[in-house]
Amino acid sequence: MIRRVGIVMECLLISGLVALMLFCCEGDKLILTRAPLEYVSAELTKLAPVKLEVDLSALQPGDRAALGKIIQAARSIDELFLLQVNPDNLAMLRELERSRKPAGEPYLQMFRTMFGPWNRLDNEKPFINDKPKPAGAGFYPEDMTKAEFEQFIADHPDQRPAFVSEFTIVRRQNGVLKAVPYHEAYANQVNQISRLLKEAAALTQDETLRRYLTLRAEDFLTDDYFRSDMAWMDLAGDLEIVIGPYEVYEDNIFSYKAAYEAFICVVDHAESRKLDAAAQYLNEMEANLPIPDQYKNFNRGLSSPIKVVQEVFSAGDTKSGIQTTAFNLPNDERVREAKGSKKVMLKNIAQAKYEQCWIPIVNQILAPQPLRNVSFECYFNHVLLHEISHGLGPGLVTLPDGRSTSVSRELKEFYPVVEECKADVMGIYNLLFLMKKGVIPEEQKYSIFASYLGGMFRSIRFGIHQAHGGGVAIQFNYFMEKEAFLRNEDGLLDLNPQKLEKAVATLLHELLMIQARCDYAAAAKLVAQYRQETPVIREMVSRLTDIPIDIRPEFAIGQ
Ligand code: ZN
Repeated sequence: MIRRVGIVMECLLISGLVALMLFCCEGDKLILTRAPLEYVSAELTKLAPVKLEVDLSALQPGDRAALGKIIQAARSIDELFLLQVNPDNLAMLRELERSRKPAGEPYLQMFRTMFGPWNRLDNEKPFINDKPKPAGAGFYPEDMTKAEFEQFIADHPDQRPAFVSEFTIVRRQNGVLKAVPYHEAYANQVNQISRLLKEAAALTQDETLRRYLTLRAEDFLTDDYFRSDMAWMDLAGDLEIVIGPYEVYEDNIFSYKAAYEAFICVVDHAESRKLDAAAQYLNEMEANLPIPDQYKNFNRGLSSPIKVVQEVFSAGDTKSGIQTTAFNLPNDERVREAKGSKKVMLKNIAQAKYEQCWIPIVNQILAPQPLRNVSFECYFNHVLLHEISHGLGPGLVTLPDGRSTSVSRELKEFYPVVEECKADVMGIYNLLFLMKKGVIPEEQKYSIFASYLGGMFRSIRFGIHQAHGGGVAIQFNYFMEKEAFLRNEDGLLDLNPQKLEKAVATLLHELLMIQARCDYAAAAKLVAQYRQETPVIREMVSRLTDIPIDIRPEFAIGQ
């Protein structure tokens, strides 16, 4: 009897095990449906694959050894971001890798590019399974509502700081919401990253990098990044490394939670010297602006230093979807207050986009003469001067009634588009100024204009309702009206350099006077008049449908 019971128990146990195994297999299978292969393949062609190779031969041996460790750490950043987007993502990725067959390959590629089953180029439409993406990604319980979160912190004010922290995720434990710090929620990866950064710190001979890596390795374990963010501002060697949780765009409920990312870069010293040369003229550039002296702003200086680098590897948030060509960090206001912030421009990413997306565009829209004269150097110089120009002109102003305010506060919703437009136009205006000073060769003038005109449709393509595209539409339509831009008999875009040079100064004058006077009504008028999708713009954009919208980097050191 007893034995029989034993046998029965054993049978139960075995069937239980079988059931458990079946359950595991079922549970293992996270991928239930897939979007049609044609859809995924077509979406992938919007991102041109580019092999990114950076010459590391000039690096010191210590830096090169450190780089290997840092890249290993960055691979864990990829895992962390996958988990932040969706807790099932790592398991789904493994399943895709296991089921890899020729037909499955595009899905795997797409999943790696998008960091999950949702297409970032198509409003987060799912291409695996059909579950919509939760607004809070993987940062909050899927069934949590905004109201529930707000009610919880209203009822538990002592827990508010932990709940709104950039560095916690919110979980539901036994039905109750709980904030868990990243270093606990993601302990495996975080500990691994911290260890690798410490090892990297021991290998480099660059004191500033060693300090950053050492402090960052510690800060990963506490989620207080202040000291290492401060140390990051002081990096002065050949490597430019960013690793940690930064931007909050992935959290579409509250924009509280920071997503992990990494930029592993080598400093481009030649480009940085070019910037230093331009930086010496900052005061003269301010003095040269086409506005009365009373509106010029000499106290601003270059509060945000600029570095030009080559990207060796990137990971996490920044690697998903559209690639970053420039970033401005840190976001911690305490660091910004104490040391400002640093702008980093990724030159090889800009060049890859130029070759893959920019050149195919100008081939479709430019008349023969400007087309023959476009160049990456002129395009990139304009990008650099655009960034410098953000730091020039009216910023904080005192109005005639004695009130102190800022241009951004007064121009409100028109500020982003007016400011981006200003930086573009002033970028050209300052390039012409640097030409007079002999910093840039005079014979580049036509090429600068041609590259400027050609580049406009890369931004306009993404829509005129965002600040960059809108700012470009204003310039394009203004210059068409002034006949500085024109169309040839084939409908292609051409330019008149004399008229363009004059029109750049008049448009810049208008933009700066709007800013100097904090003239909201004038901003509204300018935007209404020129931020228009005119028939010319529509026709040009319609020629660009098959051109890749961005690149998909394939790193020489592996994905
Ligand atoms: Zn800008």
